[in-house]
Amino acid sequence: MRIFETHAHLDFKDYAKDRDDVLKACFKAGVEKIVNIGIDAESTEKSIKLSEETGAGRPIIKATGGFHPSTVHKYDEARLRDLLKSPQIVAIGEIGLDFYRMYQPSELQKQVFEAQVKLGMEFDLPMVIHDREAHEQCFAILKKYNPKKVVFHCFSGDVRFAEKVLDEGWYISITGVITYKDSELENVVRMLPKDKLLLETDCPYLTPIPHRGKRNSPEYLTYVVQKIADLLRMPPKVVAEQTFLNAEGFFGF
Ligand SMILES: [Zn+2]
Repeated sequence: MRIFETHAHLDFKDYAKDRDDVLKACFKAGVEKIVNIGIDAESTEKSIKLSEETGAGRPIIKATGGFHPSTVHKYDEARLRDLLKSPQIVAIGEIGLDFYRMYQPSELQKQVFEAQVKLGMEFDLPMVIHDREAHEQCFAILKKYNPKKVVFHCFSGDVRFAEKVLDEGWYISITGVITYKDSELENVVRMLPKDKLLLETDCPYLTPIPHRGKRNSPEYLTYVVQKIADLLRMPPKVVAEQTFLNAEGFFGF
């Protein structure tokens, strides 16, 4: 079984002491490819570095670049432009709106999100969207530009919003939250066309059961695969392979 982790934060301090061991353990668990996600200029830089350092016995890592809703006050477009030119960059993100935690004023979030959607169009990059309690607002800003490749990371909408996203040909990504007995998310997984589903941990957060409460790692994606396989009554191997191919098509590596 090979697994594609589409959303990790392995550059975070949480992995400072044992990053290499974590990467080796991931590879042993079948995680062959990882997208490491930038949340500001510094973490984008670190993600690019991480992509350059990978070697034998470790997953292939690529990076995304962007300013998360919590860091929009630091938005530096000139610097982001430079970073997006790296050959390691496979998408812009994570970008979007978070009206749940509201780390930054909503107007500033919207302004910086829209600027980055424009940048994504200019660089012709897939977009990794962070959307918390801002479904319609995220959707409206994206629709102004009609990007082709969009994934709603850690999807938190209902079945109706999922239908709207799918109508655009966009993707939905599922984390360990699916193991937390979230019935609406289970309904979303059941109605998804199989070619629109991506898997991710969002590590170090959102650790799946039975490791909930501990630091997350891409190697725990096996629990997400198993849970989705149970829901869809499919062999885990088929779920892993289908989502692997979906991610390859989306991120292009
Ligand atoms: Zn994230």
